[in-house]
Amino acid sequence: MHRRQFIKLAASAGLALPTSTALAANPDVKRRFVGMQISPFTIFDEGVERCLDLLRDAAGINTLVCFSHTYLLGSKPKNVLADHGFNLQPRNFFKDNQRFCWVRTHDKYYKNTVVRHQPVTRNTEYHDRDIFSELAEPARKRGMKVYARMLEAGGRRAHRIPNYDKVLTVDIDGKPGRGPCWNHPHYREWLYATVRDLVENNSIDGFQWGAERTGPLSYVLFRGLIPTCFCQYCKDRNKQHGINADRAKQGFRDLYQLVKGLEQNKPKPADGVFTMVLRIFQRFPEVLSWDYQWFQADEEIGSEIHRIVKSIQPNIESGRHIDHQRSSWDVFYRAAMPYDQIAQNADFIKPILYHETLGPRLRWWVIAEMQKRVLNELSLKQSLELYYALFHQDRKERPPLDRLDKAGLGPEYVFRETKRCKDAVRGSAKVYAGIGIDVPWYVPNGMERRPSNPETMQRAVKRAFDAGADGVLASREYIEMSLQSLKAFGSAIRAL
Ligand SMILES: [Zn+2]
Repeated sequence: MHRRQFIKLAASAGLALPTSTALAANPDVKRRFVGMQISPFTIFDEGVERCLDLLRDAAGINTLVCFSHTYLLGSKPKNVLADHGFNLQPRNFFKDNQRFCWVRTHDKYYKNTVVRHQPVTRNTEYHDRDIFSELAEPARKRGMKVYARMLEAGGRRAHRIPNYDKVLTVDIDGKPGRGPCWNHPHYREWLYATVRDLVENNSIDGFQWGAERTGPLSYVLFRGLIPTCFCQYCKDRNKQHGINADRAKQGFRDLYQLVKGLEQNKPKPADGVFTMVLRIFQRFPEVLSWDYQWFQADEEIGSEIHRIVKSIQPNIESGRHIDHQRSSWDVFYRAAMPYDQIAQNADFIKPILYHETLGPRLRWWVIAEMQKRVLNELSLKQSLELYYALFHQDRKERPPLDRLDKAGLGPEYVFRETKRCKDAVRGSAKVYAGIGIDVPWYVPNGMERRPSNPETMQRAVKRAFDAGADGVLASREYIEMSLQSLKAFGSAIRAL
């Protein structure tokens, strides 16, 4: 019997609910949400019982936020993988038979979409394992909850997801774009079917959805990527809002050409880069509207997923992952989608607030990239100052350019961003701060370990709660966190 059916039956018969649900309903059990982002393969590699023991005993974890699908999974080199004292062979991320779909799928849900899940065969690693049924009892015994996590696969993933290439975006030249279109009915239906299938057939206490892509304006102005999406579904959607596709496309083409000229060090426009950008915005306001509609489509998906989860199982806590660029530097996303709007369709919001990792990300992904393009007239130093000012970065925590990469930001960043989210949602959703632990960084031909400073990380946890966080989620992934860091995180939790 599925848990959902059991709960219905138990309620009608006046029986006690399963322990994990009873725990939430019991007013004597007051506890903060202390979660861990984790992948099924790590739990299986380490063994369910001893992995959960370690999470509870070392890190004070009371909620597993476990991937149900790992399509986005990149290859992590062995040097950044922690073995947590178990003396395991480091996981090989480069093998061919990896499993990406960790739940059993049922054909009846997927009748209205051409997109399919990875076929799990006898050759697939862990093909006979069932993560959420295997976690249910060991988690319950330890007073832990289990949340499923879905992260949009993004990118071009047809090698992992059959027919994914049939729902891709279309760029301004009519060529296939970088990821699926949020307005493509078959893509949306595949997501919704996946959530229905997952929630109806697995025992979970919570669910977290997130997409990590941003919009065409950010992609072109900050990174010089060709604008998408101009597929028929996007044109139809925008037409309904009175937005002319040809004019939007022309505006995006002008922006793209402006940026390409800057990248190639062609003579700068005499009127100035910023003036040129504003000129295009004024000539083609459709550009801004198109970008706004793109984010609205993303939010519609998030809302619908939340509605589906709650309609199947109202007790499941359903929430949203807000990735780092959305939480901390993408001004177009921030302008289009305030937290209070998201909170209308989520039980919780989890902004990614990796204080240390924000250093190298700002330095290399944001400042360096923007300075080649839209901030071309500013120096790197000025670009960084502009960021600090526009994003209200605490005056005590503004590492200079030459120290930004290694020093990162600090606990006040976690405090400020948690508070910003709390103040915006005004109690209509819980806020779980995504605390970054040992998040590796990229080097030529691989990654390097970036161990967290334990004291700073502990202060970040404390400052998240000072700002009113309803919980913290240890991120980005358990497999990257050393035993020492897990213990430091656990001490911070116990000290609260
Ligand atoms: Zn489209």
